[in-house]
Amino acid sequence: MDFRLTDDQTALRESVRDFAREVIAPVIAEHYERHTFPYEVIRQMGKMGLFGLPFGEEHGGMGGDYFALCLALEELARVDSSVAITLEAAVSLGAMPIYRFGTPEQQATWLPKLLSGEALAGFGLTEPGTGSDAAGTQTRAVLDGDQWVINGSKAFITNSGTDITALVTVTAVTGTNPDGSKELSTIIVPTGTPGFTVAPGYSKVGWTASDTHELTFDDCRVPAANLLGERGRGFAQFLQILDEGRIAIAALAVGLAQGCVDESIKYAKERHAFGRPIGANQAIQFKIADMELKAHTARLAYYDAAARMLAGEPFKRQAAIAKLHASTIAVDNAREATQIHGGYGFMNEYPVARFWRDSKILEIGEGTSEVQRMIIARDLGL
Ligand SMILES: Cc1cc2nc3c(=O)[nH]c(=O)nc-3n(C[C@H](O)[C@H](O)[C@H](O)COP(=O)(O)OP(=O)(O)OC[C@H]3O[C@@H](n4cnc5c(N)ncnc54)[C@H](O)[C@@H]3O)c2cc1C
Repeated sequence: MDFRLTDDQTALRESVRDFAREVIAPVIAEHYERHTFPYEVIRQMGKMGLFGLPFGEEHGGMGGDYFALCLALEELARVDSSVAITLEAAVSLGAMPIYRFGTPEQQATWLPKLLSGEALAGFGLTEPGTGSDAAGTQTRAVLDGDQWVINGSKAFITNSGTDITALVTVTAVTGTNPDGSKELSTIIVPTGTPGFTVAPGYSKVGWTASDTHELTFDDCRVPAANLLGERGRGFAQFLQILDEGRIAIAALAVGLAQGCVDESIKYAKERHAFGRPIGANQAIQFKIADMELKAHTARLAYYDAAARMLAGEPFKRQAAIAKLHASTIAVDNAREATQIHGGYGFMNEYPVARFWRDSKILEIGEGTSEVQRMIIARDLGL
């Protein structure tokens, strides 16, 4: 067992780290403050190949793997989580379902644009009335001749309303299974389809430079050929997508946690109180040591989950552990980093204020901490 990075992985991590520090850091505070989407940053990330990282070259990808995506997400989130979640959602929720389950035609139509970052896709699972309990899905799709007619709404959908959003994949009830449960399927809805409305962006506590909308479908018609994979496989599809996505969210959380360490070390050396740097006090040193410990152990947890996934082994429990642990320690580290910054930690001009506001959603999105515990307990046979 060896969790040291290869030369290629190290080079990727360093190039994304440099990009985050040199390109994202100088501009992101203003986007965050104004709640604007950083199109220019996203365009440059596309040119770097970040949106194609875990995809095969035959579809225009970079030929890397899911772990490469995680390394990039960690380095982005070390500086800013709005940009990191934009990439995470675009790749692991947006493009991945088409890559995994799409027909050759769907892949040829959508993947080149999505993998170059020229276009973004959203993943519409959550609804206003149901999130954790996806079996509660109310959105319906009825086959009428050679078209699906979709009615319903989706809540909190990332990347669904940018100027470059090309499509949303939507889970919908398409019938009843033999056991009486809902038959769920996934359908591709291109942006601009009549009957598909994107509400104005939410006013969010954090991730304010990312794009999140409620969507409504009112007799929205798309071709029958827009069904993603097999009819009735919607439930299995999103479980697989979310299992993988948890590793990516864990990586993002580790990045935020490490960013808190970076900023705290800097500030502890600069800030003086009682005639010496606050970092000369063991109380502050121990806080930072504990923050580093948490970031390091959470990183090992997501490396482990990713290694199992890439080896083709079961990884559901490990992905849930990584997501649960990393999101918990991200919130811990953001709280402690803010404390170390004193009153300045409460001022938006300091990155730790952004980290604090961005941390809480990590315990909620792509499966709450309670849901992660349910997954772990179920996998233990409970
Ligand atoms: C900024 C943002 C971006 C998002 N992006 C997307 C996206 O791109 N696509 C998408 O589909 N969704 C997205 N989501 C939705 C997100 O995944 C859900 O908010 C999340 O899964 C929780 O669902 P919910 O909000 O309906 O909470 P609920 O399911 O209503 O849960 C409320 C609370 O009850 C708890 N709870 C529920 N059931 C149980 C139980 N059985 N036992 C114990 N506790 C329980 C939950 O853990 C939680 O604490 C996003 C959300 C946000 C805020």
